[in-house]
Amino acid sequence: VNKRDFLKTASVVGGAILGGSLLSGCSDCDNESDKNRSVNINKGKKVKLKLATSWPSNFPIMGTGVDFFAEQVKKLSGGSLEIKVYTKNQLVPALAVFDTASTGQIDAFHSGPYYWKGKNSALSVIGGVPFGMLPSETNSWMRFGGGLELWREIYDKYNLYPLLGGNTGIQMGGWFKKEIKSLKDLNGLKMRIPGLGGEVFSKMGVNPILLPAGEIFTALERGTIDATEWVSPALDIKMGFQKVAQYYYTGWHETGSVLELSFNKNSWNKLSNEHKAIIETASFEVNTRMTEEFQFENGQALEKLKSSNIKIKSFPDEVISRAKTELNSVIDKLSSENPDFEKVWKSYSKFLEQTSQWTNLSAKSILNIR
Ligand code: CA
Repeated sequence: VNKRDFLKTASVVGGAILGGSLLSGCSDCDNESDKNRSVNINKGKKVKLKLATSWPSNFPIMGTGVDFFAEQVKKLSGGSLEIKVYTKNQLVPALAVFDTASTGQIDAFHSGPYYWKGKNSALSVIGGVPFGMLPSETNSWMRFGGGLELWREIYDKYNLYPLLGGNTGIQMGGWFKKEIKSLKDLNGLKMRIPGLGGEVFSKMGVNPILLPAGEIFTALERGTIDATEWVSPALDIKMGFQKVAQYYYTGWHETGSVLELSFNKNSWNKLSNEHKAIIETASFEVNTRMTEEFQFENGQALEKLKSSNIKIKSFPDEVISRAKTELNSVIDKLSSENPDFEKVWKSYSKFLEQTSQWTNLSAKSILNIR
């Protein structure tokens, strides 16, 4: 393209943008005259998709983020693409979303890849690793460091196509009824902690217990469990753990867990290029938005928690260093058992090693002085 042609193209595109911005005066395109002025991307063709989530109705940030995604898709497509969101159990149980999307009974789902580590252990790396990448580093690996491609390669085996669907942000280490002063205080402790973190803690004497979200509070209150992790202040405060456990520990096991918007591959392939681009753009927006919302809500919730009778602690050094050792042996074992795990871990760990040099030089330096 020579310079003259380029300028000509640019001015046409510029004109289209200008036209678009004049039209976007309609914030709610439901009334008839606005409808006539809206851009019709897929002329006359209306596509409807079913998306199921692993979250209950109105679940803050993660669930409401999916609703926001669906609304954006509808607006961006001028109503030609509609994604109907079904929350937990409305269509399928929370953890059946992967299989039902894989077989095409639903078109898409919103959940977290670490839930599927039983299907393929490599998905526990995709979901996030203890002592691993922060949300910003994770997003960078996903979009520019090959993470998303590796994820797509694995999901291809299950007839699925994943897109980024948010991030939980850095999670707290959990709520404990008794203070953890040394390694031996973990011995025999009954704790709700899933994922790789649970596997590591189990090698340190903890008895990891899996409980559905609705049963955790009562179990902690009655002493059926001695401790639980959940997410971070924004969601933990709503669970009410501060009323029954006094010690709130800083995190180590979930440094920015990935959430997904995944599609049945046939449903995805059938979409027009415009609809694919709209979904991708909306997915990137919700991915960023969730991180921002967690940051906002966590700040507010932490302030409230601090005014209640809780003690915020960090685990003793010997607990952290033992957890790192145990994590390495879990990773070695999974690498030797599953080539997918080995491949994803190689990419993840290489990226982390390189990117953390910059994170330490930039963010860590600022955090230490501000
Ligand atoms: Ca968690």
